[in-house]
Amino acid sequence: MNSMDLILQAALDERALSHLYRRRLTHSGPQKPLLQVEGESLLAFCSNDYLGLAADLQVVSALTRAAYEYGCGGGASHLVCGHSQAHHQLEEELAAFTGRERALLFSNGYMANMGVITALTHASDAIFQDKLNHASLIDGGLLSRATFNRYPHLNYDVLEKRLIQSQANRKLVVSDGVFSMDGDTAEIDRLSRVCQSHNAWLMIDDAHGFGCLGENGGGVAEVYRASQAQLPILIGTLGKAFGTSGAFVVGSHALIETLIQFARPYIYTTSLSPAIAEATRVSLSLIQAEGWRRQKLQALIAYFKNGCQALNLPLMPSSTPIQPLQVGGSQQALKISHALREKGILVTAIRPPTVPDGQSRLRVTLTALHDFTHLDRLLDALSDLAPLFVEPVERQS
Ligand code: PMP
Repeated sequence: MNSMDLILQAALDERALSHLYRRRLTHSGPQKPLLQVEGESLLAFCSNDYLGLAADLQVVSALTRAAYEYGCGGGASHLVCGHSQAHHQLEEELAAFTGRERALLFSNGYMANMGVITALTHASDAIFQDKLNHASLIDGGLLSRATFNRYPHLNYDVLEKRLIQSQANRKLVVSDGVFSMDGDTAEIDRLSRVCQSHNAWLMIDDAHGFGCLGENGGGVAEVYRASQAQLPILIGTLGKAFGTSGAFVVGSHALIETLIQFARPYIYTTSLSPAIAEATRVSLSLIQAEGWRRQKLQALIAYFKNGCQALNLPLMPSSTPIQPLQVGGSQQALKISHALREKGILVTAIRPPTVPDGQSRLRVTLTALHDFTHLDRLLDALSDLAPLFVEPVERQS
């Protein structure tokens, strides 16, 4: 090994020793509850394809049809010659769906979050973020030259005090809609009131709420009936309930034009594949038309929660398809995840730095393609493993 590799290997060894090493699994075939992983058929509870649209035949046919019409790739950035009619129509439909003036597509949620935060704030501004926000929001805050604050999870009293104390020019408050590793949700009505009282701009990333929450799948904005005035900057991603990939920002004409002019992750990247945009138009129509997917998901969530309560398992408070089981130590979380795998079930152990130290967990996610027999299998396996959820006296890090 050369000296660079020796240094890198030492850091990798250290990560493995602290049970934080991440390994990728390679699967074949579509996102379905029965996932073909490295020669094994596993019952999976880790996909964010909450409505089962990723492999839906209507969505897949739209993708293939559009690939014949437009080709595979976007070809250039939106501002050069990569903006197609497919992108334009999807943006119009997303604006109508969310009741906003305009929408803008990004290649993925990570870039949308970085792009919005950096385009809207400068050195004289301040950003206030929930402590448990997604990494892409945190990274956007770190990349921006604005003062960066993080308030305790869902603690809007602390947020309000900090907003009152702040002398910043612009104040941007940023929160996940549904928190990705916890499954709980921001209180949009309170957050919006606090922001309006202190002249702060509210930005919500509802990557995990769109499609799943609200009667029409409009996410936390629909649940709280939050208008554009109450929630001026709203982000959704397309790689989860929409079953495709990409992301969108919706809001006022001025907001969208500002992003087109100043958001570097929008300007300097190839546009999303137009075929993906066409497939997403179909998934957007299914999200609205096929309420049964959300109803089924709700029934599955209720069934799983009841089952866990009966087994006295440490379920975290969540009413969304993200149903994490708190473990604590990383080693213990890995042990339970491996034991489930031996029983043919795939649930990923989520460890630091994705979650705080000592809060490793099993992140169970449910999709509309699961059925009650799948949940019975998971609950039976968890029942056998229940003693492992009691932390050993010596806490693992
Ligand atoms: N926001 C949240 C809350 C997320 O959970 C994720 C991805 N897991 C993203 C943004 C990033 O979205 P994408 O995968 O489209 O980059």
